[in-house]
Amino acid sequence: MTNQELAELIFPDIKLNKDDYEKKYPPRNLQQNTRITRFAPSPTGFVHIGNFFQALISYINAKSTEGIFYLRNEDTDKKREKKGAVELILETLDHYGISPDEYELNNKVHGNYGPYIQSKRKDLYRTFAKYLIEIGRAYPCFCTSKELSNLRELQTKEKARTGYYGEYAKCRNLSNEEIAEKIRLGAPYVIRFKSKGNFSNKFTFKDLVRGAIEFPENDFDIIILKSEDQLPTYHFAHVIDDHFMRTTHVVRGEEWLSSVPVHIEIFETMGWIPPRYLHNPLILKKDGESLRKISKRKDPEASMKYFEEKGYPPETIIDSLMTIINSNFEDWRRANPIEDFRHFKFNPKKMNSSGALYSLDKLDNISKNYISKMTANDLYTELCKWTKKYDPEFYKLIEKNKAYTVSILDIERGNKNPRKDFTCYSVIRKNIWYMFDELFDASKHKYDWQNIKDIQEIKEILALYIGEYYNVNDDKDTWWEKVKELCNNLSYASSIKEYNTNPQKYKGNIADISNVIRVAITTQSRTPDLYEILQVMGINRIKRRIKKLSK
Ligand code: GLU
Repeated sequence: MTNQELAELIFPDIKLNKDDYEKKYPPRNLQQNTRITRFAPSPTGFVHIGNFFQALISYINAKSTEGIFYLRNEDTDKKREKKGAVELILETLDHYGISPDEYELNNKVHGNYGPYIQSKRKDLYRTFAKYLIEIGRAYPCFCTSKELSNLRELQTKEKARTGYYGEYAKCRNLSNEEIAEKIRLGAPYVIRFKSKGNFSNKFTFKDLVRGAIEFPENDFDIIILKSEDQLPTYHFAHVIDDHFMRTTHVVRGEEWLSSVPVHIEIFETMGWIPPRYLHNPLILKKDGESLRKISKRKDPEASMKYFEEKGYPPETIIDSLMTIINSNFEDWRRANPIEDFRHFKFNPKKMNSSGALYSLDKLDNISKNYISKMTANDLYTELCKWTKKYDPEFYKLIEKNKAYTVSILDIERGNKNPRKDFTCYSVIRKNIWYMFDELFDASKHKYDWQNIKDIQEIKEILALYIGEYYNVNDDKDTWWEKVKELCNNLSYASSIKEYNTNPQKYKGNIADISNVIRVAITTQSRTPDLYEILQVMGINRIKRRIKKLSK
Protein backbone atom coordinates (compact mmCIF):
# COMPACT_ATOMS: atom_id res chain seq x y z
CA MET A 1 0.00 0.00 0.00
CA THR A 2 1.43 3.39 -0.97
CA ASN A 3 1.54 6.44 1.26
CA GLN A 4 -0.99 8.09 -1.07
CA GLU A 5 -3.42 5.23 -0.60
CA LEU A 6 -3.01 5.38 3.16
CA ALA A 7 -3.54 9.14 3.15
CA GLU A 8 -6.69 8.66 1.06
CA LEU A 9 -7.96 6.03 3.48
CA ILE A 10 -7.54 8.38 6.44
CA PHE A 11 -8.74 11.58 4.77
CA PRO A 12 -11.14 10.50 1.99
CA ASP A 13 -13.04 13.78 2.13
CA ILE A 14 -10.01 16.03 1.69
CA LYS A 15 -9.95 17.17 -1.92
CA LEU A 16 -7.96 20.40 -1.86
CA ASN A 17 -4.20 20.30 -1.85
CA LYS A 18 -1.21 22.37 -0.83
CA ASP A 19 -1.27 24.52 -3.97
CA ASP A 20 -4.97 25.26 -3.62
CA TYR A 21 -4.33 26.80 -0.24
CA GLU A 22 -1.27 28.70 -1.45
CA LYS A 23 -3.59 30.27 -4.03
CA LYS A 24 -6.39 30.86 -1.56
CA TYR A 25 -4.10 32.64 0.91
CA PRO A 26 -1.45 34.31 -1.25
CA PRO A 27 1.41 36.29 0.24
CA ARG A 28 0.09 39.66 1.30
CA ASN A 29 0.59 42.43 -1.14
CA LEU A 30 2.55 44.71 1.14
CA GLN A 31 5.78 46.64 1.00
CA GLN A 32 8.88 44.74 1.96
CA ASN A 33 9.63 44.86 5.68
CA THR A 34 6.02 45.50 6.57
CA ARG A 35 5.26 43.32 9.55
CA ILE A 36 2.29 41.05 10.02
CA THR A 37 1.71 40.10 13.62
CA ARG A 38 -1.03 38.42 15.55
CA PHE A 39 -2.57 37.93 18.95
CA ALA A 40 -3.59 34.30 19.36
CA PRO A 41 -5.23 33.72 22.73
CA SER A 42 -7.32 30.78 23.79
CA PRO A 43 -10.93 31.80 24.47
CA THR A 44 -10.91 31.22 28.22
CA GLY A 45 -13.11 34.18 29.17
CA PHE A 46 -10.31 35.95 30.97
CA VAL A 47 -7.81 38.41 29.53
CA HIS A 48 -4.66 38.00 31.58
CA ILE A 49 -2.30 40.94 31.78
CA GLY A 50 0.43 38.67 30.37
CA ASN A 51 -1.68 38.01 27.28
CA PHE A 52 -2.48 41.64 26.85
CA PHE A 53 1.21 42.44 27.19
CA GLN A 54 1.83 40.10 24.24
CA ALA A 55 -0.96 41.68 22.23
CA LEU A 56 0.54 45.10 22.82
CA ILE A 57 4.00 43.96 21.73
CA SER A 58 2.51 42.42 18.59
CA TYR A 59 0.49 45.53 17.92
CA ILE A 60 3.36 47.99 18.31
CA ASN A 61 5.63 45.69 16.32
CA ALA A 62 3.23 45.69 13.36
CA LYS A 63 2.32 49.33 13.62
CA SER A 64 5.94 50.47 13.75
CA THR A 65 6.00 49.42 10.06
CA GLU A 66 2.37 50.31 9.30
CA GLY A 67 1.77 46.60 9.16
CA ILE A 68 -1.16 44.38 10.06
CA PHE A 69 -2.13 43.10 13.47
CA TYR A 70 -4.77 40.37 13.52
CA LEU A 71 -6.63 38.32 16.11
CA ARG A 72 -6.78 34.54 15.88
CA ASN A 73 -9.00 32.58 18.19
CA GLU A 74 -7.15 29.43 19.29
CA ASP A 75 -10.10 27.33 20.33
CA THR A 76 -8.78 23.84 19.72
CA ASP A 77 -9.04 22.95 23.38
CA LYS A 78 -12.80 22.75 23.51
CA LYS A 79 -12.83 21.98 27.24
CA ARG A 80 -11.36 25.36 28.15
CA GLU A 81 -13.55 27.43 25.89
CA LYS A 82 -15.98 29.97 27.42
CA LYS A 83 -18.90 31.64 25.72
CA GLY A 84 -18.44 35.31 24.91
CA ALA A 85 -14.68 35.00 25.18
CA VAL A 86 -13.94 36.51 21.77
CA GLU A 87 -16.22 39.49 22.47
CA LEU A 88 -14.37 40.05 25.71
CA ILE A 89 -10.99 39.96 23.97
CA LEU A 90 -12.13 42.37 21.27
CA GLU A 91 -13.74 44.70 23.79
CA THR A 92 -10.54 44.71 25.81
CA LEU A 93 -8.36 45.46 22.79
CA ASP A 94 -10.79 48.19 21.69
CA HIS A 95 -10.87 49.72 25.15
CA TYR A 96 -7.11 50.17 25.06
CA GLY A 97 -7.05 51.37 21.46
CA ILE A 98 -5.23 48.41 19.98
CA SER A 99 -7.99 46.86 17.89
CA PRO A 100 -6.96 44.20 15.40
CA ASP A 101 -7.16 44.88 11.67
CA GLU A 102 -8.47 41.37 10.99
CA TYR A 103 -10.66 39.19 13.20
CA GLU A 104 -13.85 37.21 13.28
CA LEU A 105 -16.91 37.73 15.43
CA ASN A 106 -20.37 36.21 15.29
CA ASN A 107 -19.64 34.55 11.95
CA LYS A 108 -18.57 37.83 10.42
CA VAL A 109 -15.05 37.57 9.05
CA HIS A 110 -13.05 40.77 8.76
CA GLY A 111 -10.03 40.10 6.55
CA ASN A 112 -8.99 37.84 3.67
CA TYR A 113 -7.09 35.21 5.60
CA GLY A 114 -9.90 33.77 7.68
CA PRO A 115 -11.59 31.96 9.17
CA TYR A 116 -9.78 33.42 12.17
CA ILE A 117 -11.14 30.72 14.45
CA GLN A 118 -9.08 27.55 14.51
CA SER A 119 -11.94 25.11 14.87
CA LYS A 120 -13.28 26.44 11.56
CA ARG A 121 -9.97 25.69 9.87
CA LYS A 122 -10.10 22.00 10.58
CA ASP A 123 -9.95 20.90 6.94
CA LEU A 124 -6.92 23.07 6.35
CA TYR A 125 -5.00 21.25 9.09
CA ARG A 126 -6.29 17.88 7.86
CA THR A 127 -5.13 18.72 4.33
CA PHE A 128 -1.61 19.19 5.59
CA ALA A 129 -1.66 16.16 7.84
CA LYS A 130 -2.71 14.25 4.72
CA TYR A 131 0.14 15.83 2.78
CA LEU A 132 2.66 14.83 5.46
CA ILE A 133 1.40 11.25 5.34
CA GLU A 134 1.76 11.27 1.56
CA ILE A 135 5.39 12.32 1.78
CA GLY A 136 6.08 9.88 4.60
CA ARG A 137 6.49 12.53 7.29
CA ALA A 138 3.47 11.71 9.42
CA TYR A 139 1.77 8.56 10.60
CA PRO A 140 -1.14 7.41 12.71
CA CYS A 141 -0.23 6.31 16.21
CA PHE A 142 -2.48 3.88 18.04
CA CYS A 143 -0.73 3.87 21.41
CA THR A 144 -3.18 4.06 24.27
CA SER A 145 -2.64 6.32 27.27
CA LYS A 146 -1.78 3.22 29.26
CA GLU A 147 0.93 2.31 26.76
CA LEU A 148 2.26 5.84 26.84
CA SER A 149 2.47 5.88 30.61
CA ASN A 150 4.25 2.51 30.56
CA LEU A 151 6.67 4.01 28.08
CA ARG A 152 7.32 6.93 30.41
CA GLU A 153 7.99 4.54 33.28
CA LEU A 154 10.37 2.49 31.19
CA GLN A 155 12.25 5.59 30.05
CA THR A 156 12.51 6.87 33.59
CA LYS A 157 13.87 3.52 34.69
CA GLU A 158 16.37 3.52 31.87
CA LYS A 159 17.28 7.12 32.66
CA ALA A 160 16.35 8.04 29.10
CA ARG A 161 14.55 11.23 28.02
CA THR A 162 10.82 10.72 28.27
CA GLY A 163 8.73 11.15 25.14
CA TYR A 164 7.80 9.57 21.84
CA TYR A 165 10.92 9.43 19.70
CA GLY A 166 13.42 7.17 17.93
CA GLU A 167 13.25 3.54 18.88
CA TYR A 168 10.59 4.27 21.51
CA ALA A 169 8.22 5.51 18.82
CA LYS A 170 6.53 2.18 18.33
CA CYS A 171 3.98 3.13 15.72
CA ARG A 172 6.46 4.88 13.43
CA ASN A 173 7.57 1.43 12.22
CA LEU A 174 4.13 0.01 11.42
CA SER A 175 3.68 -0.88 7.78
CA ASN A 176 0.95 0.89 5.82
CA GLU A 177 -0.92 -2.41 5.65
CA GLU A 178 -0.81 -2.83 9.44
CA ILE A 179 -2.03 0.74 9.86
CA ALA A 180 -4.86 0.25 7.38
CA GLU A 181 -5.95 -2.89 9.15
CA LYS A 182 -6.10 -1.19 12.56
CA ILE A 183 -8.06 1.69 11.10
CA ARG A 184 -10.55 -0.70 9.50
CA LEU A 185 -10.99 -2.34 12.89
CA GLY A 186 -11.86 1.04 14.33
CA ALA A 187 -8.87 1.55 16.59
CA PRO A 188 -8.58 5.18 17.72
CA TYR A 189 -5.42 7.02 16.71
CA VAL A 190 -3.68 10.38 16.64
CA ILE A 191 -1.50 11.61 13.79
CA ARG A 192 2.15 12.15 14.64
CA PHE A 193 4.81 14.06 12.80
CA LYS A 194 7.78 11.87 11.83
CA SER A 195 10.85 13.75 12.94
CA LYS A 196 14.17 13.38 11.18
CA GLY A 197 16.08 15.28 13.84
CA ASN A 198 18.98 13.95 15.85
CA PHE A 199 19.15 14.90 19.50
CA SER A 200 22.96 14.91 19.45
CA ASN A 201 23.02 17.64 16.81
CA LYS A 202 22.88 21.29 17.72
CA PHE A 203 20.24 23.58 16.39
CA THR A 204 20.60 27.37 16.54
CA PHE A 205 17.98 29.99 15.93
CA LYS A 206 17.74 33.70 16.52
CA ASP A 207 15.17 34.97 18.96
CA LEU A 208 14.53 38.68 18.55
CA VAL A 209 14.83 39.35 22.28
CA ARG A 210 17.49 36.90 23.31
CA GLY A 211 19.65 36.70 20.18
CA ALA A 212 21.08 33.34 19.08
CA ILE A 213 19.92 30.37 21.14
CA GLU A 214 21.21 26.86 20.85
CA PHE A 215 19.07 23.77 21.39
CA PRO A 216 19.47 20.09 20.53
CA GLU A 217 17.63 19.21 17.33
CA ASN A 218 14.08 17.99 17.78
CA ASP A 219 13.61 14.26 17.51
CA PHE A 220 10.14 13.91 19.07
CA ASP A 221 7.35 12.58 16.91
CA ILE A 222 4.90 15.11 18.26
CA ILE A 223 1.15 14.75 17.85
CA ILE A 224 -0.18 17.01 15.13
CA LEU A 225 -3.84 15.92 15.03
CA LYS A 226 -5.66 14.81 18.13
CA SER A 227 -7.68 11.66 18.13
CA GLU A 228 -11.15 12.56 19.32
CA ASP A 229 -11.95 15.48 17.00
CA GLN A 230 -9.03 15.54 14.55
CA LEU A 231 -8.33 19.06 15.69
CA PRO A 232 -4.68 20.13 15.56
CA THR A 233 -2.34 20.53 18.49
CA TYR A 234 -0.89 23.96 19.15
CA HIS A 235 2.37 23.10 17.36
CA PHE A 236 0.74 22.09 14.11
CA ALA A 237 -1.85 24.86 14.06
CA HIS A 238 0.89 27.41 14.73
CA VAL A 239 2.87 26.33 11.67
CA ILE A 240 -0.11 26.08 9.33
CA ASP A 241 -1.84 29.26 10.48
CA ASP A 242 1.18 31.49 10.73
CA HIS A 243 2.20 30.36 7.26
CA PHE A 244 -1.19 30.86 5.63
CA MET A 245 -2.04 34.02 7.49
CA ARG A 246 1.38 35.20 6.36
CA THR A 247 2.61 36.19 9.80
CA THR A 248 6.09 37.69 9.68
CA HIS A 249 6.69 37.99 13.45
CA VAL A 250 5.40 35.62 16.08
CA VAL A 251 5.22 37.18 19.52
CA ARG A 252 4.50 34.63 22.20
CA GLY A 253 5.39 33.65 25.74
CA GLU A 254 8.78 32.28 26.63
CA GLU A 255 7.22 28.94 27.55
CA TRP A 256 7.26 28.19 23.79
CA LEU A 257 11.00 28.76 23.36
CA SER A 258 11.95 25.12 23.68
CA SER A 259 9.35 24.16 21.05
CA VAL A 260 11.02 26.26 18.35
CA PRO A 261 13.14 23.33 17.02
CA VAL A 262 10.05 21.24 16.29
CA HIS A 263 8.19 24.19 14.79
CA ILE A 264 11.05 24.97 12.48
CA GLU A 265 11.40 21.33 11.52
CA ILE A 266 7.76 21.29 10.44
CA PHE A 267 8.10 24.58 8.54
CA GLU A 268 11.10 23.17 6.70
CA THR A 269 9.39 19.87 5.96
CA MET A 270 6.57 21.84 4.32
CA GLY A 271 9.10 23.86 2.34
CA TRP A 272 8.06 27.12 4.00
CA ILE A 273 10.10 29.95 5.47
CA PRO A 274 9.51 30.19 9.23
CA PRO A 275 8.49 33.55 10.73
CA ARG A 276 10.73 35.52 13.07
CA TYR A 277 10.19 34.73 16.72
CA LEU A 278 9.99 37.10 19.64
CA HIS A 279 9.56 35.26 22.92
CA ASN A 280 8.45 37.72 25.52
CA PRO A 281 9.39 37.42 29.17
CA LEU A 282 6.90 36.71 31.92
CA ILE A 283 5.30 39.60 33.76
CA LEU A 284 6.45 39.54 37.36
CA LYS A 285 5.48 41.36 40.50
CA LYS A 286 7.26 42.05 43.71
CA ASP A 287 6.04 40.03 46.65
CA GLY A 288 7.97 40.99 49.76
CA GLU A 289 11.59 40.60 48.83
CA SER A 290 11.07 38.20 45.96
CA LEU A 291 9.70 38.38 42.45
CA ARG A 292 6.98 36.08 41.20
CA LYS A 293 4.64 35.58 38.29
CA ILE A 294 1.42 37.63 38.41
CA SER A 295 -1.13 35.07 39.39
CA LYS A 296 -4.76 34.84 38.38
CA ARG A 297 -5.59 33.41 41.77
CA LYS A 298 -3.75 35.86 43.99
CA ASP A 299 -3.54 39.16 42.12
CA PRO A 300 -6.54 41.17 40.95
CA GLU A 301 -4.34 42.96 38.41
CA ALA A 302 -3.88 39.64 36.59
CA SER A 303 -7.17 40.46 34.85
CA MET A 304 -7.36 43.38 32.44
CA LYS A 305 -10.90 43.97 33.74
CA TYR A 306 -9.40 45.13 37.02
CA PHE A 307 -7.93 48.26 35.44
CA GLU A 308 -11.18 49.11 33.72
CA GLU A 309 -13.15 48.65 36.90
CA LYS A 310 -10.75 50.83 38.85
CA GLY A 311 -11.01 53.47 36.15
CA TYR A 312 -7.45 53.86 34.97
CA PRO A 313 -7.35 55.85 31.74
CA PRO A 314 -6.47 53.29 29.03
CA GLU A 315 -3.48 55.36 27.93
CA THR A 316 -1.91 54.94 31.36
CA ILE A 317 -2.15 51.15 31.21
CA ILE A 318 -0.52 51.24 27.78
CA ASP A 319 2.24 53.48 29.12
CA SER A 320 2.80 51.34 32.20
CA LEU A 321 3.22 48.29 29.96
CA MET A 322 5.32 50.06 27.35
CA THR A 323 7.67 50.97 30.18
CA ILE A 324 8.38 47.29 30.74
CA ILE A 325 8.33 46.44 27.04
CA ASN A 326 11.22 48.74 26.17
CA SER A 327 13.74 50.10 28.65
CA ASN A 328 14.01 53.40 26.77
CA PHE A 329 10.27 54.09 26.71
CA GLU A 330 10.27 56.16 29.89
CA ASP A 331 12.95 58.51 28.58
CA TRP A 332 11.04 58.80 25.33
CA ARG A 333 7.84 59.60 27.23
CA ARG A 334 9.61 62.25 29.29
CA ALA A 335 10.83 63.89 26.10
CA ASN A 336 7.43 63.46 24.39
CA PRO A 337 4.85 63.84 27.15
CA ILE A 338 1.76 64.01 24.97
CA GLU A 339 2.88 62.02 21.95
CA ASP A 340 0.85 58.99 20.84
CA PHE A 341 2.67 55.83 22.03
CA ARG A 342 2.41 54.46 18.49
CA HIS A 343 5.12 56.88 17.44
CA PHE A 344 7.63 55.28 19.79
CA LYS A 345 10.20 53.20 17.92
CA PHE A 346 9.80 49.71 19.32
CA ASN A 347 12.99 47.69 19.54
CA PRO A 348 12.92 44.05 20.73
CA LYS A 349 16.52 44.29 21.82
CA LYS A 350 15.45 46.75 24.48
CA MET A 351 13.26 44.19 26.16
CA ASN A 352 14.45 42.58 29.33
CA SER A 353 14.56 38.86 28.64
CA SER A 354 14.76 37.79 32.25
CA GLY A 355 11.35 39.08 33.33
CA ALA A 356 9.25 42.21 33.18
CA LEU A 357 8.56 43.68 36.58
CA TYR A 358 5.13 45.30 36.74
CA SER A 359 4.30 47.63 39.60
CA LEU A 360 0.93 49.06 40.54
CA ASP A 361 2.67 51.93 42.37
CA LYS A 362 4.33 52.86 39.14
CA LEU A 363 0.98 52.69 37.35
CA ASP A 364 -0.54 55.01 39.98
CA ASN A 365 2.27 57.40 39.41
CA ILE A 366 1.84 57.39 35.64
CA SER A 367 -1.89 57.68 35.99
CA LYS A 368 -2.01 60.52 38.52
CA ASN A 369 0.33 62.54 36.33
CA TYR A 370 -1.77 61.80 33.29
CA ILE A 371 -5.03 62.75 35.01
CA SER A 372 -3.44 65.90 36.44
CA LYS A 373 -2.72 67.09 32.90
CA MET A 374 -6.25 66.54 31.55
CA THR A 375 -8.52 69.54 31.21
CA ALA A 376 -11.37 69.65 33.73
CA ASN A 377 -13.82 69.22 30.86
CA ASP A 378 -12.10 66.12 29.51
CA LEU A 379 -11.83 64.67 32.97
CA TYR A 380 -15.52 65.34 33.50
CA THR A 381 -16.39 63.52 30.26
CA GLU A 382 -14.28 60.51 31.20
CA LEU A 383 -15.57 60.49 34.75
CA CYS A 384 -19.14 60.45 33.41
CA LYS A 385 -18.36 57.48 31.16
CA TRP A 386 -16.76 55.57 34.00
CA THR A 387 -19.36 56.36 36.68
CA LYS A 388 -22.23 55.60 34.33
CA LYS A 389 -20.98 52.02 34.25
CA TYR A 390 -19.43 51.57 37.66
CA ASP A 391 -21.01 54.13 40.03
CA PRO A 392 -24.46 55.10 38.69
CA GLU A 393 -25.40 56.99 41.87
CA PHE A 394 -22.44 59.33 41.53
CA TYR A 395 -23.05 59.54 37.80
CA LYS A 396 -26.54 60.94 38.39
CA LEU A 397 -25.15 63.52 40.74
CA ILE A 398 -22.39 64.80 38.47
CA GLU A 399 -24.57 64.64 35.40
CA LYS A 400 -27.15 66.84 37.11
CA ASN A 401 -24.49 69.30 38.28
CA LYS A 402 -22.24 69.54 35.27
CA ALA A 403 -20.88 73.08 35.65
CA TYR A 404 -20.35 72.65 39.37
CA THR A 405 -18.55 69.32 38.92
CA VAL A 406 -16.31 70.74 36.21
CA SER A 407 -15.34 73.60 38.51
CA ILE A 408 -14.61 71.11 41.31
CA LEU A 409 -12.41 69.10 38.97
CA ASP A 410 -10.73 72.34 37.94
CA ILE A 411 -9.49 73.03 41.46
CA GLU A 412 -5.69 73.19 41.37
CA ARG A 413 -5.67 72.23 37.72
CA GLY A 414 -3.50 74.01 35.19
CA ASN A 415 -1.14 75.17 37.97
CA LYS A 416 2.55 74.53 38.03
CA ASN A 417 1.86 71.94 40.69
CA PRO A 418 -1.55 70.53 39.82
CA ARG A 419 -3.41 68.29 42.23
CA LYS A 420 -2.29 64.72 41.93
CA ASP A 421 -4.55 62.80 44.25
CA PHE A 422 -6.61 61.23 41.44
CA THR A 423 -4.81 58.01 40.56
CA CYS A 424 -7.87 56.66 38.75
CA TYR A 425 -11.53 57.54 38.27
CA SER A 426 -12.71 55.36 41.13
CA VAL A 427 -10.88 57.44 43.75
CA ILE A 428 -12.33 60.76 42.61
CA ARG A 429 -15.62 60.42 44.50
CA LYS A 430 -13.73 59.62 47.67
CA ASN A 431 -11.61 62.73 47.23
CA ILE A 432 -14.30 65.27 46.34
CA TRP A 433 -17.44 63.92 48.02
CA TYR A 434 -17.65 66.78 50.51
CA MET A 435 -18.21 69.25 47.70
CA PHE A 436 -21.68 67.79 47.07
CA ASP A 437 -24.46 68.58 49.53
CA GLU A 438 -26.21 65.33 48.68
CA LEU A 439 -23.20 63.31 49.80
CA PHE A 440 -22.29 65.65 52.62
CA ASP A 441 -25.74 65.58 54.15
CA ALA A 442 -26.07 61.84 53.78
CA SER A 443 -22.93 60.91 55.61
CA LYS A 444 -22.14 60.72 59.28
CA HIS A 445 -19.42 63.24 59.76
CA LYS A 446 -16.26 62.85 61.64
CA TYR A 447 -14.75 66.28 61.77
CA ASP A 448 -11.01 66.12 61.84
CA TRP A 449 -10.49 69.07 64.20
CA GLN A 450 -6.86 69.55 65.04
CA ASN A 451 -5.54 71.96 67.70
CA ILE A 452 -8.77 73.82 68.19
CA LYS A 453 -11.34 71.32 69.39
CA ASP A 454 -13.69 73.36 71.57
CA ILE A 455 -16.89 73.59 69.52
CA GLN A 456 -17.90 76.89 71.12
CA GLU A 457 -14.66 78.48 70.09
CA ILE A 458 -14.96 76.97 66.63
CA LYS A 459 -18.39 78.47 66.17
CA GLU A 460 -17.21 81.88 67.28
CA ILE A 461 -14.29 81.85 64.88
CA LEU A 462 -16.54 80.85 61.99
CA ALA A 463 -19.28 83.33 62.82
CA LEU A 464 -16.80 86.18 62.93
CA TYR A 465 -15.09 85.00 59.78
CA ILE A 466 -18.22 84.73 57.70
CA GLY A 467 -19.85 87.78 59.21
CA GLU A 468 -16.94 90.18 58.83
CA TYR A 469 -14.05 88.83 56.85
CA TYR A 470 -15.10 86.52 54.06
CA ASN A 471 -16.02 88.09 50.76
CA VAL A 472 -16.52 85.93 47.69
CA ASN A 473 -15.21 88.71 45.47
CA ASP A 474 -11.79 88.85 47.08
CA ASP A 475 -8.85 87.68 45.09
CA LYS A 476 -6.57 85.13 46.69
CA ASP A 477 -4.11 87.61 48.25
CA THR A 478 -6.83 89.77 49.72
CA TRP A 479 -8.57 86.66 51.00
CA TRP A 480 -5.42 85.54 52.80
CA GLU A 481 -4.82 89.02 54.22
CA LYS A 482 -8.30 88.86 55.73
CA VAL A 483 -7.60 85.50 57.35
CA LYS A 484 -4.57 87.14 58.88
CA GLU A 485 -6.68 90.04 60.14
CA LEU A 486 -9.05 87.54 61.70
CA CYS A 487 -6.08 85.98 63.49
CA ASN A 488 -4.97 89.32 64.82
CA ASN A 489 -8.46 90.05 66.01
CA LEU A 490 -8.64 86.74 67.90
CA SER A 491 -5.10 86.73 69.35
CA TYR A 492 -3.79 84.06 67.01
CA ALA A 493 -0.41 84.65 65.36
CA SER A 494 -0.89 85.57 61.70
CA SER A 495 2.34 83.86 60.74
CA ILE A 496 3.84 80.62 61.91
CA LYS A 497 7.26 82.20 62.20
CA GLU A 498 5.91 84.88 64.47
CA TYR A 499 4.16 82.23 66.54
CA ASN A 500 7.32 80.16 66.91
CA THR A 501 9.29 83.13 68.24
CA ASN A 502 6.64 84.07 70.79
CA PRO A 503 4.29 81.15 71.42
CA GLN A 504 3.18 82.31 74.88
CA LYS A 505 1.82 85.55 73.39
CA TYR A 506 -0.83 83.72 71.28
CA LYS A 507 -3.69 81.25 71.56
CA GLY A 508 -2.43 79.55 68.41
CA ASN A 509 -1.58 80.51 64.86
CA ILE A 510 -2.97 81.03 61.38
CA ALA A 511 -2.71 77.33 60.53
CA ASP A 512 -5.13 76.58 63.38
CA ILE A 513 -7.58 79.17 62.14
CA SER A 514 -7.52 78.11 58.50
CA ASN A 515 -7.88 74.55 59.64
CA VAL A 516 -11.09 75.40 61.47
CA ILE A 517 -12.51 76.88 58.26
CA ARG A 518 -11.31 73.93 56.18
CA VAL A 519 -12.65 71.25 58.52
CA ALA A 520 -15.97 73.01 59.06
CA ILE A 521 -16.82 72.88 55.37
CA THR A 522 -15.13 69.67 54.31
CA THR A 523 -14.69 67.71 57.58
CA GLN A 524 -11.12 67.02 56.46
CA SER A 525 -7.90 68.63 57.61
CA ARG A 526 -6.19 67.88 54.32
CA THR A 527 -7.72 69.17 51.12
CA PRO A 528 -6.62 70.98 48.00
CA ASP A 529 -6.41 74.75 48.06
CA LEU A 530 -8.90 76.19 50.55
CA TYR A 531 -9.40 79.45 48.68
CA GLU A 532 -10.43 77.56 45.54
CA ILE A 533 -12.72 75.27 47.49
CA LEU A 534 -14.51 78.23 49.03
CA GLN A 535 -14.83 79.92 45.66
CA VAL A 536 -16.29 76.85 44.01
CA MET A 537 -18.66 76.05 46.88
CA GLY A 538 -20.12 79.56 46.96
CA ILE A 539 -21.34 81.47 49.96
CA ASN A 540 -24.69 79.75 50.41
CA ARG A 541 -23.18 76.32 50.61
CA ILE A 542 -20.50 77.57 53.00
CA LYS A 543 -23.10 79.14 55.27
CA ARG A 544 -25.18 75.97 55.28
CA ARG A 545 -22.18 73.89 56.28
CA ILE A 546 -21.39 76.23 59.14
CA LYS A 547 -24.99 76.28 60.26
CA LYS A 548 -24.96 72.49 60.33
CA LEU A 549 -22.24 72.70 62.95
CA SER A 550 -24.39 74.77 65.25
CA LYS A 551 -27.04 72.10 65.50
N1 GLU B 1 -2.90 30.02 22.15
C1 GLU B 1 -1.52 30.08 22.51
C2 GLU B 1 -1.41 30.53 23.95
O1 GLU B 1 -2.35 31.13 24.43
C3 GLU B 1 -0.84 31.10 21.63
C4 GLU B 1 0.63 31.12 21.67
C5 GLU B 1 1.07 31.91 20.48
O2 GLU B 1 0.87 33.12 20.47
O3 GLU B 1 1.57 31.33 19.52
O4 GLU B 1 -0.43 30.24 24.60
